[in-house]
Amino acid sequence: MRIDERDVMFSRMARKEGTEAYKDYYKTREEKQRIDDEISMMPGLCAEGTATYDPVNSPMIMSAFEFLGDIKHLAPGPDLNNRVCPGTPETFTKRIKGLAGYYGSVLCGITGCDEDYYYSHRGRDDDSYGEIVEPKHTSTIVFAVEMDKEAIDTAPQLPEALAVVKGYVDTAIIGMMLTYYIKSLGYDARNHMDGNYLLVLPLAAKAAGLGDIGRHGILVTEQFGSRVRLGAVTTNMPLIVDEPSEFNITEFCRICGKCAKTCPAKAISSEDQTEINGVMRWQIIQEECYRKWRVLGTDCGICISSCPFSSNIPEKLINDYKKDSKNAGEIIRLHEQKYKIRPFNKEKPEWMK
Ligand code: SF4
Ligand code: SF4
Repeated sequence: MRIDERDVMFSRMARKEGTEAYKDYYKTREEKQRIDDEISMMPGLCAEGTATYDPVNSPMIMSAFEFLGDIKHLAPGPDLNNRVCPGTPETFTKRIKGLAGYYGSVLCGITGCDEDYYYSHRGRDDDSYGEIVEPKHTSTIVFAVEMDKEAIDTAPQLPEALAVVKGYVDTAIIGMMLTYYIKSLGYDARNHMDGNYLLVLPLAAKAAGLGDIGRHGILVTEQFGSRVRLGAVTTNMPLIVDEPSEFNITEFCRICGKCAKTCPAKAISSEDQTEINGVMRWQIIQEECYRKWRVLGTDCGICISSCPFSSNIPEKLINDYKKDSKNAGEIIRLHEQKYKIRPFNKEKPEWMK
């Protein structure tokens, strides 16, 4: 079953009391209304009154989100060139992956446009609230940028949040460059960027071979763990599709459970997977996670920094685990020897002091 964007916490927080969208959403969801109204009364992210507030540093994060809000209408890209440039899927795939890498992506994969990755309805903005999402492209290009380890390891402090918003900015720009390029060659395309997604990115990323989805509900890559931000462009350009990744993290997560132990909101399950909409998986309690963000003033990120794969695990150990999940213990042992519970960097970068 497809996810409805109206149920995502960011969409719920965008509802304003008295608007048609607010009335429509909560008319059948009294319990959610109670929780959401309560959270809405709390100080905003990076705002005065939150635990990490700093009058000089906090605005670096919110001003970046303001910029993203100002450019998100560009996601559909320019007018389509009506002269189609002929080319083979091999050539186009090479150019697209190369260009994404040139602009800073560290991983890039391509999958089809399975409608399961798409939201069923839009929910983020009042003017598109409730619109049915209809996939209209044939391929999804998914790319990732790396988030700086030193900054992520300051979680839940401000440098972590700055690394995350930088990831959103970088992926938005890469997606725009790919969209403009593809449309200039006469093929339709659309960027999916912060505040203007039609897709659930971790699902598309898994299908495109970038990694697997962990206990904490986000993507884990072999190379950078969860220390990545994702972006995607959907298109009708003929491209070669990648296989899903052979990296299966489920067994590792069963043994590890580190993110469930370190989550300050107890939003990550320490139990085994359960069946949700016909699929065995873990699901975080998004209300508790987001409530913690509003206390901290940042997007927390402790689960990202806690994940052993976010800490540069040697390739050999990852390959040993891929061959036999019993080898998970060696990775956990190495991680605990180095960090005990999780890496924690108390130091802000010099320029933020
Ligand atoms: S971001 Fe923080 S509060 Fe949210 S799930 Fe991760 S560790 Fe828990
Ligand atoms: S911290 Fe452990 S349990 Fe959580 S996602 Fe990473 S590997 Fe899985």
